[in-house]
Formats: sequence, structure tokens, C-alpha cells
Amino acid sequence: MAKNLVRRILIGTTNPHKLEEIREILRDLPVELVSPDKFAPLPEVVEDGRTFRENAVKKAVEWARFTGYWTMAEDSGLEVHALGGAPGVLSARYAGEGATYEANNLKLLKNLEGMPTEQRTARFRCTVALAKPEGLVFVVDGECAGRVARKPRGRYGFGYDPVFYLPEYGKTFAELGPETKNRISHRTRALKKFRERLLMVLDGEN
Ligand code: IMP
Repeated sequence: MAKNLVRRILIGTTNPHKLEEIREILRDLPVELVSPDKFAPLPEVVEDGRTFRENAVKKAVEWARFTGYWTMAEDSGLEVHALGGAPGVLSARYAGEGATYEANNLKLLKNLEGMPTEQRTARFRCTVALAKPEGLVFVVDGECAGRVARKPRGRYGFGYDPVFYLPEYGKTFAELGPETKNRISHRTRALKKFRERLLMVLDGEN
């Protein structure tokens, strides 16, 4: 790529909360981040992978092929140790297809009812894949450890944020707010690696 051309990268997520977090975390990269509305709607990709990685790669590769743009896609969710890693890749539909965040949180709290604090450990995981129309470029992962609170607390964020408690802060993600969450979250950790890898790829192109 010529030095004065800015690489365009499509952000392959239809979740407005994730879109906002991704834009914030990648804001000073020397690339143009393209919103998915440009192609609205992006064709639906069935997220039938057994891992976050399989789903992220599938979405990035299919959308890059469809749009002709370099495309990043992520898959993320919550793994609770006492539940054998559930809800995991089923995080968005834990309480059923189309379930609300609230219904998912209630189901999780119910499944952990009476569970002592030390057995409520959990981690958020995020995998980010970058693909070009010809195929996959790279994949990176990030995670953030905490535990499941006994009841929802806080008003920021989305999804499981009100029930994800960080002992070192004494607060849930939803109480911490975006500034702190975006410093330590699974998505931030994956996106930091994404930045580094992308800069290396762009460097190799010049
Ligand atoms: P998907 O990647 O859109 O299939 O959904 C992942 C699901 O995991 C979301 O719907 C949320 O329930 C959950 N999730 C992923 N990242 C976060 C986060 O940062 N905070 C809270 N919930 C999250």
C-alpha cells in the first residue's frame, strides 16, 4: 500500500455498545474505521462455532469477502468456572434466543444461587479477528477475571456488566463506568494486541 493511503477497516459488529467501545479503544490508529451501517444490513453469519475464536474468524472472513473491505470481527462472552464455562459462546442467548440482557443475568444469578463467593469466579473473554477479502490475516484474544456478583449493580455498560464484579475495585463493570472498563476489559486487552499486530501488518505493506 502506498504510504499516503489510509487503510480502511470495517468494524464488523452490529452491537452498538461494542461498536462504541471499539471506536474509543482504537481511536488513534492510522486507519479509517468504517461503520457497518455502510453495508446495512451485513449478511447474517450463523455463530455456530464451539469457541469464540471460530465465531470471530467466521464473521471476519465472510464479511470481508462480502464487502471487499478488510474487516475486523469479534466474539466475546462470559465463562463461569462453576458452570463448566457456561454461558460461554451462548452468552447472548443464555436465557433463550432473543433473550434480554436482564433475562440472561437473572438466569445466571439463579444458577449460582447459594454458591459461596470463592466459587463464583468467572472471566470475560474476547477474540478479535482481522480478515481481508482473500482470507484471514490474524486473530488475537483477551480476557478479564472477576466473579459473579450476588445481585445486579450499576447503570453503565451492557450485557453481564451489572453482575460482573471485580474484587480489586469492589465494584461491578456497570458501576465502574466506561473509562475504567475500557482500561481493563477483555475487549481492551484483545484490541491492544490487535493494534500492535495491525501496525506490524501495515508496516510490512509500506
Ligand atoms: P455476541 O458476541 O454478540 O454473540 O454476544 C456476546 C454476549 O456476551 C453479549 O450479548 C453479552 O451478553 C456478553 N458480553 C460480551 N462482552 C461483554 C461486555 O463487555 N460486558 C457485558 N457483557 C458482555
